[in-house]
Amino acid sequence: MTRATIVLFDIDGTLLDAKGAGRRAMEAGFAAVTGRADGLAAVRFAGMTDPQIVRDGLRAVGLPHDPTVVAQVIAAYLERLPAELRVGPPRRLPGVEAVLERLRGRDGVALGVGTGNVEAGARAKLRAAGLDAYFGFGGYGSDHESRAELLAVGARRGAASLGRTSHGCRVLVVGDTPRDIAAAHAIGAECLAVATAFHGVDELRAAGPSAVVETLATPAAQRWLDEHIA
Ligand SMILES: [Mg+2]
Repeated sequence: MTRATIVLFDIDGTLLDAKGAGRRAMEAGFAAVTGRADGLAAVRFAGMTDPQIVRDGLRAVGLPHDPTVVAQVIAAYLERLPAELRVGPPRRLPGVEAVLERLRGRDGVALGVGTGNVEAGARAKLRAAGLDAYFGFGGYGSDHESRAELLAVGARRGAASLGRTSHGCRVLVVGDTPRDIAAAHAIGAECLAVATAFHGVDELRAAGPSAVVETLATPAAQRWLDEHIA
């Protein structure tokens, strides 16, 4: 039996650029629930899970962390997200479709997402970008607030889809932030970092991924994936 491989792609900054739709919907949802329009102004979203973003916003405005309020903010965010995605559809990042086409349907390969987005938000963004058909499973911000934990959930689901346990599988994480890299390390996964968003090649390299590429369209990205997917 060949070694099965699970590939978990981050969404924002890795597969697509949602052009601020997620931030606008989250800020509006946060303001609607808490009455504080400024709560998320200073919160950096990159690499964060949705529950972490709300937690930081509550702290920023001096409100206690209350799981009920977090759930309300996320529900208010999800109500607003589809309209924000229609304002300007997400842009697929370079090379994404070609890479997904190469991996799709390969024997022993499970293709999923590993994202801080809650599942409904992830699905809305992927659908708006025309990428939803590639992904049958994932680990999401709605599975766990911790990025490492949600990647572990995604890996278990991917393994189950192949009829394996995650211990017997190689896990590859593709992401655009040092947080993706740290979370991959925490679960013993290998990480391909892509410098397609806020973090440059040098900054990503400092976080110690298996490899860093400018975009998924580069020969280096294709080579890395081919080498790691037997
Ligand atoms: Mg990202």
